[in-house]
Amino acid sequence: MSERILLIEDEALVADMVRLNLEHAGFRVDSVTTGPDGLEHLRTHVYDLALVDVMLPGMDGFEVTRRARGAGVVTPVLMLTARGETQAKVAGLDAGADDYLTKPFAMPELLARVRALIRRHTAARGVPSSRELRFGVYRVNFDTREAITNEGRVTLTERECALLEFLAGREGELLPRTDILENVWGMDRFPTARTVDNYVLRLRKLFEPDPEEPVHLQTVRGRGYRFVGE
Ligand code: CA
Repeated sequence: MSERILLIEDEALVADMVRLNLEHAGFRVDSVTTGPDGLEHLRTHVYDLALVDVMLPGMDGFEVTRRARGAGVVTPVLMLTARGETQAKVAGLDAGADDYLTKPFAMPELLARVRALIRRHTAARGVPSSRELRFGVYRVNFDTREAITNEGRVTLTERECALLEFLAGREGELLPRTDILENVWGMDRFPTARTVDNYVLRLRKLFEPDPEEPVHLQTVRGRGYRFVGE
């Protein structure tokens, strides 16, 4: 799966050149041109990196970064600053940026910084890949219970998370409701099979392109459920 980058840059020439070079290097790129759009994308999608210009319409790059951090976004941010803006570099790092690059920059340097930052971030995160579930366009972090869903970025309840982890951990297997109840709810409680059904319905709203026609959280009629990632 190629890494996904958000580019927030209002200068069309720069944006086009950066996007083309990143795509040529194998990255997937979403490109927006205003601060508010950038913030919205950061809050509702998971990116491996964000390239954030300082001077943007609507909201500057510092504010975008600060607000994103305030909202719990951990995506590494590489600020694009104009030449000689020493103050801007400091302000960017203060706002929560991870690195900066001074315009005009050479594409090889940009690509090197991008790769280094993504590598550093992945290593620092230290989350074993098994703790982060990716399927379709969705992602779930089982440590933070944070998920990217049809409703944007949401925090799952402990039970929703436990159910999803149980199902996904046995991908492709038929899981009878009784097994699900025993493993996710435990024997000290008295939920019914209906409880499982209700939780699955909730998960489908979050994690199915069409909850009426589930592809990930499948019903095996009369028997139970089956999780299919792709
Ligand atoms: Ca600009």
